[in-house]
Amino acid sequence: MKTGIFPYLIALFIMASPVGLSGQTKTFEMERKNMVNTQIRARGITWQPTLDAMLKVPRHLFVPGYARSKAYYDGPLTIGYGQTISQPYIVAYMTSILKPEKGDKVLEIGTGSGYQAAVLAEIVDSVFTVEIVPELAEQAKEILDSLGYKNVWVKSCDGFYGWKEHAPYDKIIVTAAPEEIPQPLIDQLKEGGKMIIPVGGEYSFQYLVLVEKKKGKVIEKTMLPVRFVPFTRDHN
Ligand code: SAH
Repeated sequence: MKTGIFPYLIALFIMASPVGLSGQTKTFEMERKNMVNTQIRARGITWQPTLDAMLKVPRHLFVPGYARSKAYYDGPLTIGYGQTISQPYIVAYMTSILKPEKGDKVLEIGTGSGYQAAVLAEIVDSVFTVEIVPELAEQAKEILDSLGYKNVWVKSCDGFYGWKEHAPYDKIIVTAAPEEIPQPLIDQLKEGGKMIIPVGGEYSFQYLVLVEKKKGKVIEKTMLPVRFVPFTRDHN
């Protein structure tokens, strides 16, 4: 009897251990929980759909292999082509400000890694996302497809013009900073819709601006000071 219990103890240890069979996945899951609790919830973001989405999306799969161990770190990370995946808190903040809902159609400008698009796709019906660097658009499309997201459409072009064919949008999120808000994006926002966009020069102050369309009027509200990569233009 005495020796009989030993294998059970070992089995229990393996099941409870983060370095078991699916150890890496478990470790990332724990890091994700920790990220949501300490970086997001602790800083006052309590909107459940955002928290649930960020608990679910495997952020480590959206960063290059060499940066995987830092995927849940409290800051932006480089993803190649001079671009970055935003800090988890900023993704959560921008998502919560928009309060996306199930039936919404969302436009994102600046697909980058595809992470923000995946977070949105967990919440809303459809996400249209535009990226100016074709290689990044292709990579993002591959990872989103491999994770089974069927409600995200990626296109490579200059997001200054939005994505007219699917307009108007309930929500628009821009993740690169122009010096002024592109007029086509305002035009493609639905009446009653919301857009969040960082505005400012590469070497000057940038602020997140919340744009709302109410009764035909465009209302702008300045929110957080931020630092985003510049909104570039395709002049071809
Ligand atoms: N949302 C991204 C963060 C991307 S960083 C993520 O979750 O990873 C901003 C991205 O905006 C970069 O990939 C950059 O190439 C892209 N970008 C900059 N100017 C753009 C433009 N005019 N149109 C579309 N994408 C643009």
